Amino acid sequence: MSPVSAYVGLGANLGDAAHSVRIAIDLLGQLPQTILSACSSLYRSAPIDATGDDFVNAAVKLETQLDAHQLLVELQRIEHHFGRERPFRNAPRTLDLDLLVFGKETICDSTLEVPHPRMGSRAFVLLPLHELTPDLEIPGLGPVEQLLAVVGDQAIEKLDADR
Ligand code: ADP
Ligand code: MG
Repeated sequence: MSPVSAYVGLGANLGDAAHSVRIAIDLLGQLPQTILSACSSLYRSAPIDATGDDFVNAAVKLETQLDAHQLLVELQRIEHHFGRERPFRNAPRTLDLDLLVFGKETICDSTLEVPHPRMGSRAFVLLPLHELTPDLEIPGLGPVEQLLAVVGDQAIEKLDADR
């Protein structure tokens, strides 16, 4: 099977969020049948539809021979490693890994929706994605550049590389 380009969004707002995101990126680089081909800067964003502290966000691009559901299982395994609990909807989280885009596939079943349903309206997803691939076409949603132009007023800042 030839590899598929997949994009994964990372977010954390509990504990040392920047540290969690960096470690998670390392773990994504160790997934089976998968190469980490690019990784965005880290960003800080105010919570949207969520509670608690500001979030640290990033996105990575993977080349993977896993299928989308296998990749989701691997993402959940990494979330679990960080002690992710879901006490209530949109609770603060040690680490959230979302499968944003999986090649040109659109998937909608009981465990997985791709492209991720809320990504088109969230600057903390679109900005790191745009950094990785400025001309990315998100299946069913359109060019990342156009989507980003619409959410440009959401509060988000790039973190210094050494923080
Ligand atoms: P959210 O990321 O929306 O805040 P969670 O991380 O708690 O919520 O995810 C809840 C469920 O969302 C997971 O059990 C997973 O099966 C489902 N899900 C559906 N689509 C996706 C996707 N594209 N990426 C990650 N999880 C997804
Ligand atoms: Mg999630």
